[in-house]
Amino acid sequence: MFVSPMVTIGKLITTGSKYLADQGISNPRLEAEVLLSYILRWERIQLYVRWADEVSCEDKVRFQNALEKRGQHMPAAYITGIKEFYGLELAVNENVLIPRPETELLVDWLLALCQEKSGQLISIIDIGTGSGAISIALAYNLLDKGHECFHIYAADISQDALKIAAQNAVRWQVDGKVEFVESDLFENLPHTLKKNVDIIVSNPPYIPTEDLNTLPRDILGYEPVQALDGGPAGLDFYPPLLTEGRHFLKNEGWMVFEIGHGQGDALTALAQQLDCSAVELHFDHSGKERMVIARWG
Ligand code: GLN
Repeated sequence: MFVSPMVTIGKLITTGSKYLADQGISNPRLEAEVLLSYILRWERIQLYVRWADEVSCEDKVRFQNALEKRGQHMPAAYITGIKEFYGLELAVNENVLIPRPETELLVDWLLALCQEKSGQLISIIDIGTGSGAISIALAYNLLDKGHECFHIYAADISQDALKIAAQNAVRWQVDGKVEFVESDLFENLPHTLKKNVDIIVSNPPYIPTEDLNTLPRDILGYEPVQALDGGPAGLDFYPPLLTEGRHFLKNEGWMVFEIGHGQGDALTALAQQLDCSAVELHFDHSGKERMVIARWG
């Protein structure tokens, strides 16, 4: 791809972004910069400060390899092995869904709910924790605000996902607060939690099966289908989350779920069938239905 033996940062970025553009990658310039700053372990701004600096042969080859992967539409997060979520750098690999910025909305609300209950012991279950994004961001920020009285049980059916999640919890020093459980939904959660949990949160797979092949190549070819496929209408996980979740929730408790656009009415109806006392639908920054919060008691 690059002929000259000596190559500058500037040259790598311009040739690299052109290559990515030719492969149909959107925001090619940004993507090239992200990959190069990762390889050089620099802040992105440094690329501009050191635009005319020459790059070592090893770094050039590493950059070319990364560009090739990105050119095949592998998400940048899987190439770098890192994704930022709620201001925390998390390790990710192809066994976990890449945490999305929309999911930060759930963390905002969880923090607000926990704030209301501050002073009491708060018990939380996160179903389908994946990289551990929600649980770890929540635990980290609660501790940061001086709340120590909480415990999170983070469940996932995938042992490979839990390995990454556990690694992330150690990195952010919340491993004493987040307990990982290999479990299909609530199956392996301790029975002692029944009627003892304050909040159940989940970002389950919610994409309708028939929509899966309309997803961009970056997602479809790389992210775990198990974390995306929500069955025929995308709603398969919500009835068991609600019905089984009710056995774990205290008389007064909350369920906070991420949903896809257009699923709000179905979710509201499901929560009402289970006699919730209030249900709210929330929209993300692009105006899409994104979160349902149901309250009991
Ligand atoms: N809870 C994780 C996240 O929000 C994983 C969600 C999933 O795999 N569906 O990123």
